[in-house]
Amino acid sequence: MNISEKNNEISKIFYKRYFEQNAINKIANEMTKFLWFKEGHFINPLKKEEIAKKYAEEEIDNFYNKNILIMPQVEFCITTRCTLKCKDCCALIPQLDKEHRIEMSFDDFKLYLDKILNNVDGIRRFIILGGETLMNPELPKMIEYAAGKEKIFDIEIITNATILPNQKLIDCLKKYNKKVFVYTSNYKGAEELANIIKIDEFEKVLNKNNIKHLKFESWSWKEEFGFSSQADDDEKTKEKFFKCDRIKCTQVIDGFLYICSKASAGKFLNGIIADGIDILNSKDLRNEIIEFYKAPYTEACKYCILSEKLIQPALQA
Ligand code: SF4
Ligand code: SF4
Repeated sequence: MNISEKNNEISKIFYKRYFEQNAINKIANEMTKFLWFKEGHFINPLKKEEIAKKYAEEEIDNFYNKNILIMPQVEFCITTRCTLKCKDCCALIPQLDKEHRIEMSFDDFKLYLDKILNNVDGIRRFIILGGETLMNPELPKMIEYAAGKEKIFDIEIITNATILPNQKLIDCLKKYNKKVFVYTSNYKGAEELANIIKIDEFEKVLNKNNIKHLKFESWSWKEEFGFSSQADDDEKTKEKFFKCDRIKCTQVIDGFLYICSKASAGKFLNGIIADGIDILNSKDLRNEIIEFYKAPYTEACKYCILSEKLIQPALQA
């Protein structure tokens, strides 16, 4: 069967979550590599759509004809502790009580990552985040471990820039500066955080050590309403899921792989059952991951309230 015949058979949600997202992340990766290291080739932003289509077709060929499974994006939440209490935190971190705080150990990080990598052929975009990521003291060891994995194409560390990196972390980021990048949230607009955010100092340290980094320049959040106690019906949930911009944010936390960080928090809030994949106990993780990308939604999505209202980022609770 050729690619266009296959293309007709693929459900819209599978195409969007797996093939299209792989293509989008591949382009982003190529653009940063060219911008920072003059590696690869220049991608004309005006031709992005055309190139994305071509890359998605390559991914279809890889998946169906070569049996290659590449996860477009995986986020490891290594701590739910945070230095801030954002009212509209999309991961609902400030709502998690102490009993439900999670700190991933390096040993668990290795176990989850190894099991996933043994069952897939690649992770295009591997993200380490929190809470506030730098609160986990084992972060440098985790970066070191992940950076040594050939199946991981690039690594991003997300931070709210309230804690400056220590020497151990700087050395590690420096060592892998062609594979590991830092993304800083830009909360400068939140006046009440003026004395807490250290973004300028943080960037100075990164620049001085030639560590590549990006900052979200103009970024607005959507108001967060958490979960409803009533489930939406099948059709409404499918529609909601298809337009949700967080369906790419596959999150690993507490040994499970969830559709997003909000879904994982749903496990602890409102009694909502989050239907994540049990990574270590899965008997056929590769197939479970494939089915995960094909799913029209997950259980938590039925209860999830999505808002379109744009608001100032990082307003504190
Ligand atoms: S949005 Fe980020 S900085 Fe704010 S509470 Fe959530 S995890 Fe912390
Ligand atoms: S739970 Fe589902 S609908 Fe809600 S933000 Fe996550 S992916 Fe989107």
